[in-house]
Parts: sequence; C-alpha cells; structure tokens
Amino acid sequence: MKNRKVVPYAVTKSGCSAAFFGDYHLHSSFSSDAHDALHQICLQAVRLGLSEVGLTDHLSLFPQDPNYNFLNRLYSAYFEAVDECRQQFKDSLTIFLGAEVDYHPHYEDEICVFLHHHPFDYVIVSVHYVDRLSLTDARFYLSRHPEVGIRQYVDTLKRAVLLPGLAVLGHLDWIKRGWRQYWRDFPYKPELLLEAGLDQALQVLVARGGLLEINTSGIRRGVGEPFPGEVLLSRYRELGGRYCVLGSDAHNASELAHSFHEGVTLARRVGLEVVSPLRHQKRVSEKAINHSVFHQSSIKTFKEVDERHG
Ligand SMILES: [Zn+2]
Ligand SMILES: [Zn+2]
Repeated sequence: MKNRKVVPYAVTKSGCSAAFFGDYHLHSSFSSDAHDALHQICLQAVRLGLSEVGLTDHLSLFPQDPNYNFLNRLYSAYFEAVDECRQQFKDSLTIFLGAEVDYHPHYEDEICVFLHHHPFDYVIVSVHYVDRLSLTDARFYLSRHPEVGIRQYVDTLKRAVLLPGLAVLGHLDWIKRGWRQYWRDFPYKPELLLEAGLDQALQVLVARGGLLEINTSGIRRGVGEPFPGEVLLSRYRELGGRYCVLGSDAHNASELAHSFHEGVTLARRVGLEVVSPLRHQKRVSEKAINHSVFHQSSIKTFKEVDERHG
C-alpha cells in the first residue's frame, strides 16, 4: 500500500479526485532546455503530494533542433535513470517513462522507427516546427502572411495526430505565443484555427482515443491561459472529446503542477474529465478507431514503417 500523501492544493480546491492526480508533461536534464535531474523532479512531486508523474523529455529527430542528440542518443541512460527513480520512490510515487515527440513531417518515418524500437509508457506528440522553422523563431511569423502561417500550422497538426503511438496531443495552440508577439496587426483568435481546419485534427484525435493536453505553461509564460484555451477545449468537447491530461511542461522542479488549479477548473467548466494517460490508454482499444473520419490507410503502424526501412 502506497503512502497517502498530502492532497495538492489545486486538487483540494477543485474537488477533483486525487486518486491518480499527476503531472504528465515534465522535462529534466535529458532535455537541452531543462536542468534538474529526474530524482529532483520526483522529490518535488512527492513534496507536492502528487501520486503520479510522467517524465516526458523531448524526442527530436530533426538534426537542427537543440534536442537532437538527447533522447535519441541517451535512451538507455534515460531508461536506467527512470528505473532508479522508480526504486527510490517506490513507496510514494508512480513514475511513467514518457517522451514529448517533436513532430516533423519530414522525419515522420524516422520517428516511427525510433518508437518501434524504443518503447515508452506513453508519448505526447507536439508540433514545435512548421516549414522547418521553430514556432519560437520570429522568422516564421515575419516571412509569411498570418493566414498562410495559420493554415500551415493546422495542416501540420492534422498530420501529427495520425502519428502511430500518439497518446496525447501536446499544447494544441502553441502558435498563439509567437502569434501574439509577432502578428500584432492580426490579433489572436482561436476561431481562426478552427476556420483553417483544426476540427479535422480534433476529430481524428477523438476517433483514435487520443487525449488532449491542457498545458498550463501558458499561464506561467504570461500568455494568460493554458494551451489550449477555453474556446478550443469546448470545441474538442463538442466533437466528442471527453478526456484531457494536465501537464505543466515544467522545465525545472519548481514549476511542477504550476497553475493546475486553473487547469482543473477550466477542464470542469467545459465538461472534460482529467485523466492519467496510461490508465486511459488501457481503456482504449484499436477498435475505438472510427474509420469514417479518415482513411484507414493513412494510419501506419510502427511495424509497417520499420519494414519499409528495414
Ligand atoms: Zn512542447
Ligand atoms: Zn514540453
């Protein structure tokens, strides 16, 4: 029997069940842009009274990305470090070995082959690059009309949700950070993402039994709301989405579970249930795929891609 820790403040305030309350989007020193060791993150989780954590360092197979040469080269070390943490915290914390896959249309096959040979408990798929430019790079915004950039971003998301192995779609409207900064004459409106076809990505996500993340780092980073905000979460709910995952996207231990009270409150307001990705995955079978939403042939399996490259 695991020790019952102090119920986190956010959970107490929301009234949400603490049975599997966790933070499922966390970065450690296995990511280029984070510094704390895995055991420091786990220690902080125990201090906060979380019962689960999902360690999700970046997996990037794009050679120009700063995270290239991290998990794709350090998988064994990551696996062993997670295993050590599981031993160290076995009485107080359930630890998932996860990854945040940096989706890149040009490296789709490489990602599939890597995931086939390097299993994770669950995978968050996130779009950080469009047209080979980072969404934190001013050049992306300054080199095209906003309508073109929005369409390209949505088109990339529509492909990303088809990636084999996807359990969670990360920070859906990540573009809004740069959009607000660099497209000031074209104010951010989530409806514009929907008009550009975001519904299709959400429909595929729902049909595949994938989960939408409420990434609370938007609040920490001064965007004023999580990624995504209420309009897009409501649309996901309207399209049949019932579940979401909470992630702080912490890049140091002190950011764990940051703004979770706001995240849980928002989920409840739009009628979404906050779940643990692994526990949810077990409930979802491939039979849940609704083939009327997209062509079966457009979803590859790890095995098919691997054999083609074999
Ligand atoms: Zn990300
Ligand atoms: Zn992240």
